[in-house]
Amino acid sequence: MNKIQVFNTLSGTKEEFVPLQDNVVRMYACGPTVYDLSHLGHARMAIVWDVVQRYLRFVGYDVIYVRNITDVDDKIIKRAKELGITPEKLSRQYTYAFWHDMHSLNVESPDFEPRATEYITQMIAFTQGLIDGGHAYEAGGDVYFDVASFKDYGKLGKQNLEQLLVGSREQAVAQETLAHLKKSPVDFALWKSADASELGWPSPWGRGRPGWHLECSAMVKRILGETIDIHCGGEDLVFPHHENEIAQSEALHGQPMARYWLHNSFVQTNSEKMAKSLGNFKTIRDLLATFSADTIRLFILQSHYRNPIDFTIESLQATSTGIQRLLRAASFEHGLNESEAVAPSEAAQKTADTFKEEFAAAMNNDFNTAVAISHLYQLADGITQTKSAADKQYLASTLVHYAKVLGLTMTDTRQELDTATGAKLIDLILTLRKEARERKDYASSDLIRKSLTEIGVNVMDSADGATWEKI
Ligand SMILES: [Zn+2]
Repeated sequence: MNKIQVFNTLSGTKEEFVPLQDNVVRMYACGPTVYDLSHLGHARMAIVWDVVQRYLRFVGYDVIYVRNITDVDDKIIKRAKELGITPEKLSRQYTYAFWHDMHSLNVESPDFEPRATEYITQMIAFTQGLIDGGHAYEAGGDVYFDVASFKDYGKLGKQNLEQLLVGSREQAVAQETLAHLKKSPVDFALWKSADASELGWPSPWGRGRPGWHLECSAMVKRILGETIDIHCGGEDLVFPHHENEIAQSEALHGQPMARYWLHNSFVQTNSEKMAKSLGNFKTIRDLLATFSADTIRLFILQSHYRNPIDFTIESLQATSTGIQRLLRAASFEHGLNESEAVAPSEAAQKTADTFKEEFAAAMNNDFNTAVAISHLYQLADGITQTKSAADKQYLASTLVHYAKVLGLTMTDTRQELDTATGAKLIDLILTLRKEARERKDYASSDLIRKSLTEIGVNVMDSADGATWEKI
């Protein structure tokens, strides 16, 4: 088995990855809150962890990958109210939209994809366990986690309770209604009361709904167990979300929640974090209207996952030429048919072996896709320069195989035209036909009309000129 080094946010260093149990990797990524269309920041998070789980499987691990859907949240409730629909309907609608986007980006489905609303029973039991253990308390129909009862609080984000108290006192002024219920301003809600008109479930503390952090703790426990191998997500989740997950789970179970905490960096526009609140986001759909899934994926993976990405349309355009470079080299995979196939030369085999070692070394170094991709480019250039068709074919199939480890589809669409381009082409042909008629070249004009009919385009002449339609 390959030795993989991962950067663990918890220790602040790179460590050798060793799963808790043999060959099994239990991995949990925090998924989307479904109240709007996903943007490039969401795409980055989904693609980065998709590649990590793909690579772990590629090297032989038996991965159980869980990514949740947050379908109960204040943002969902607020948006549903604005739109005049139920929160359930809104979250379902955007869950489907998220799946559509993930499928379009060739992000594999996780092994489990729990929705928060399906785990209310487990969340209530979890909360009751924390109350029984002296780590949570009820106040006015809400239940809060008692941060002072968990001595390790702040260990993930490297903050101590004093620093957190100063920050939260400022916040508390803005949220006075909640502040008077809590023992300490840093205590966070496990359960929030809800009146009969709001989304809610019955509980021992009255009608209410879970706090956001609780769902991941309850679902990790139910699906993967008390200690998992990898817990991952965007770096904005370190505090408070993952810090609070650790507090809840470790206070209840008395053992580590996850052995490795991995976090990906942001996508920035003009060096600001890309987020909907900044109004500068590009939805995945907007981008897919112009760029292929492989271009978007390559763009994201050309940076190491812990470095921020500066997004510009120009940089995405530059990446599409990179994809073409890979596709041109990959096309030699089909250069020879079976009867023509001969063994590759020793030199080609050596090139492939060296490439595989370099690719593995890059990926084993904290999933450094940026370096892995530079080796793909080198291999592609090598294929172009190789003279022998057999060697080209052998190296091209190696290229395609490894590109797919990164989740690139390698679908060659270089000669596929979209409908708008097709329509422009026919308009162009009709302009040429018009010019032929003007110089009384009726033979050419008739040939154009006949040829267009044969490919399924009907040309209609009128006093105003020619128009066309599909037959
Ligand atoms: Zn989470």
